[in-house]
Amino acid sequence: MPPLPLKTCRDLVPARKDSPLRKALLIVDVQNDFCPGGALAVPNGDQVIEPLNKMMGHANNKNGRILASRDWHSRNNKKHFSKWPPHCIQNTPGAEFHPLLQLPTRAFTISKGYTNEDDGYSLFEGVYIRKDDWPLSAGSLLYGFNEICVGGLATDYCVKATCLDAVKLGYKVYLLTDACRAVNLKPTDEADALEEMRQAGIIFTTTDQVISESR
Ligand SMILES: [Zn+2]
Repeated sequence: MPPLPLKTCRDLVPARKDSPLRKALLIVDVQNDFCPGGALAVPNGDQVIEPLNKMMGHANNKNGRILASRDWHSRNNKKHFSKWPPHCIQNTPGAEFHPLLQLPTRAFTISKGYTNEDDGYSLFEGVYIRKDDWPLSAGSLLYGFNEICVGGLATDYCVKATCLDAVKLGYKVYLLTDACRAVNLKPTDEADALEEMRQAGIIFTTTDQVISESR
């Protein structure tokens, strides 16, 4: 069978409402360019690293499913770079995960925003690129899960888009509020994003709470 066109991958993700309870962890875009000193730095973006490391350590001990997304833009993504300064260009240091982020080997790297038409805000637009094989949609890696925890950068863009897509796909979604930070182009953006997520049914929690409840 020839590879499916990438844009159709997200349509293949089934809504999961009836599977046994298993929480998956989604880490959104903790990349150098989104951290202080990067091309599109989120204020205090590096503060998400410590709680996310704790959360990943916990998930790893529980044999949990971990997906870590990265913006993975081509240099000539004119559409996306008309809205934002160039950032997270494929195979550059800015696109690498922050060196302090302790991604376990079991974590799947999800690449998003790699076509010139795609902003790639949501992790669910991304794919896991397999060696010598065609890519897997992010959603297919969550088959069998019905609850997910989300943290990373930035609250008012990629974290929000990921959470809202997850709700649409039928997941119960927990936002790790201590493990995300906002761009706040407008000072109210973070509050607006949180309100939109709250209205969509997303549950606000913290890494400590999730860890203590699942010991
Ligand atoms: Zn981007």
